[in-house]
Amino acid sequence: ALQSVSPSSASVAEEARAILARLGVPDSAFAPTGRPALSPITGEVIAHVRETTPEEAKAAIGRADAAFKAWRTIPAPKRGEFIRLLGEELRAAKDDLGRLVTLEAGKIVSEGLGEVQEMIDICDFAVGLSRQLYGLTIATERADHRMMETWHPLGVCGVISAFNFPVAVWSWNAALALVCGDSVVWKPSEKTLLTALATQAIVERAAKRYGGVPEGLCEVLLGGREIGEILVDDHRVPVLSATGSTAMGRQVGPKLAQRFARAILELGGNNAAIVAPSADLDLALRGIAFAAMGTAGQRCTTLRRLFVHDSVYDQLVPRLVKVYGSVKIGDPREQGTLVGPLIDKAAFEGMERALDEARTAGGKVHGGGRYTDVAADGLYVRPALVEMPKQTGPVLRETFAPILYVMRYTDFDEVIEQHNAVGAGLSSSIFTLNMREAEAFISVTGSDCGIANVNIGPSGAEIGGAFGGEKETGGGRESGSDSWKAYMRRATNTINYGNTLPLAQGVKFDV
Ligand code: NAD
Repeated sequence: ALQSVSPSSASVAEEARAILARLGVPDSAFAPTGRPALSPITGEVIAHVRETTPEEAKAAIGRADAAFKAWRTIPAPKRGEFIRLLGEELRAAKDDLGRLVTLEAGKIVSEGLGEVQEMIDICDFAVGLSRQLYGLTIATERADHRMMETWHPLGVCGVISAFNFPVAVWSWNAALALVCGDSVVWKPSEKTLLTALATQAIVERAAKRYGGVPEGLCEVLLGGREIGEILVDDHRVPVLSATGSTAMGRQVGPKLAQRFARAILELGGNNAAIVAPSADLDLALRGIAFAAMGTAGQRCTTLRRLFVHDSVYDQLVPRLVKVYGSVKIGDPREQGTLVGPLIDKAAFEGMERALDEARTAGGKVHGGGRYTDVAADGLYVRPALVEMPKQTGPVLRETFAPILYVMRYTDFDEVIEQHNAVGAGLSSSIFTLNMREAEAFISVTGSDCGIANVNIGPSGAEIGGAFGGEKETGGGRESGSDSWKAYMRRATNTINYGNTLPLAQGVKFDV
């Protein structure tokens, strides 16, 4: 399968193949009839990946279930040792895996590396966590009794991930789930199979150094939605973390609810920022540019709506338009590139459609359209800044491309209302030096999102905090803080060390 690379565009494919070989991905992962793995940089096929059959998927879930039964009995700090080794292996493979993220997902070099750094960070976090899976001791109303809670592993944790964070999202879930005592079955995006194979090879190296983990502890299912559906429907999977579009969540969520499985839904965003009259405009400009154009607008936390106070609009927006016109678009491997390619043709068409709708709704479009001044022939676009008369039409939904809708506001309460008047509730921010506004924005009456920032853009979260959002973003939380609790079950234990049997609430039942 690796032979099917056209000579004219051999460089991306050859580099990717060399990385896969270095990381130890076996030849058996590829087959001439497999699913083509494309690079958005050039549009070329890197390799054909052998997909998992439904029978193989079910067998993998069975192995993961058996692995869980052994893994749960290993003390948590010893499970943490496996994640410590995984972190070490990721450190050693950082350049290769980061580069592969660039080649397969089209992220610029520093973002590809940053994604692997995030995997390393969550491993460090999870190692510490492996000694801190605490339960409470709770005051009991009964004499000579003790009440406490114990956290136990839950079972097989399914992970479905999206193309735009092809490896970090797996690690946010897997590092936590594994120290919690769960096994993990991963269904990566069908658009990023190579980085999944590479990650699996790294996991296997860590497992070997650990001295062996139960067979099936970390399984990968390669394929499209049908393979994901098998994971969603399998009763042996008590917890499933699904990252992707809200449309995907609408299909997956009810199915999990139907069988009472735990859902960690990490869905689409339609993130906004407010630029208030007192804002530090230089800082705001940089924050907005990164949040709106970084990753070519293909982050769940990408800034998509910008509300600028009337008093600073004419200072800020022309400067922003200038930045939009000068940002370096192109091959993400090249130094200085800030905006790489879109993932595929569908993404490009979605962007075109949204811009047409915006124009019809009275929007003034700066930028946008195909950018062809690139040696490689992937789908490159000019990021678009659209001045909108009001929040309407395409502004109300997530278009997974670099479009920033800009609107004026005058009243703080009204802008908060507008801010919250969309389906998604992932990330948000305000640029202000006014303490009352800053506090109001993050207060109960402010942003309704899972992430609310002050004087930084909505994108680029750290692993230490809980990550996720409300409403159509699905309500799940991953990564830091106490997100680990979603991967465990809580037992409340009451122990009577006396020789009488007092009942709760003073109930008498003398027999
Ligand atoms: P997508 O919804 O097309 O696919 C995501 C994953 O879900 C893929 O692995 C896909 O195969 C699988 N899938 C789709 N339908 C399924 C079904 N019915 N059953 C089981 N599996 C199914 O998303 P995408 O285009 O890869 O990624 C972009 C989207 O992901 C955006 O909406 C973005 O906001 C969102 N996203 C959210 C977060 C977050 O943490 N909230 C993070 C990254 C991306």
